[in-house]
Amino acid sequence: MKNSENSNHEKTSNGTNNKNLFVQPSSKAASELKDLFIDSLKDIFWAENALVGALPKMGANATAASLVSAIKEHLAVTKNQVLRLEKIFDLLGEKAEGKKCEAMSGLLKEGDSILEETMPGAVRDAGIIAASQKIEHYEIATYGTLVAFAKTLGENDVAKLLTQTLAEEKEADCVLNDIALNAVNIVAAK
Ligand code: FE
Ligand code: ZN
Ligand code: FE
Ligand code: FE
Repeated sequence: MKNSENSNHEKTSNGTNNKNLFVQPSSKAASELKDLFIDSLKDIFWAENALVGALPKMGANATAASLVSAIKEHLAVTKNQVLRLEKIFDLLGEKAEGKKCEAMSGLLKEGDSILEETMPGAVRDAGIIAASQKIEHYEIATYGTLVAFAKTLGENDVAKLLTQTLAEEKEADCVLNDIALNAVNIVAAK
């Protein structure tokens, strides 16, 4: 919208041009960063548990030995990330519980469709890598934010634990990059 068109529109206190776009908070809305932090931990706790359930299927559909073993390795790492989150909830005096992560749910659905849409072999491997990297990038974004929240809140032990997971997600993304560059894409292009 052009600025000239806005002049007659009422502005809300936060400067938005259309008050119809403003979302009224629910009765349970977080008013403190700590609450948003806990909610975000519940979201990623759900997501990591969903991944523990989904990674075996990805591994079972991969062909390249390097990809199969990378997925197997990341499954073990992911199981440990679930335990680390349980430790984090414990440190914060909160109950370890998940809250459905719509983003991870969507990424996993997309991963399932990629399996249906590709023939087993190099092309399906390329699809599995693509889907897995979207998942790792989502996790990297999430843990990056969680580390920042933990530091802001002065939860330094929690920040350290979250930083370990962040490093593992970055490592997994690098491994997938290497596999894609070294093997799968070369074969898939033939
Ligand atoms: Fe993870
Ligand atoms: Zn999420
Ligand atoms: Fe998201
Ligand atoms: Fe991961």
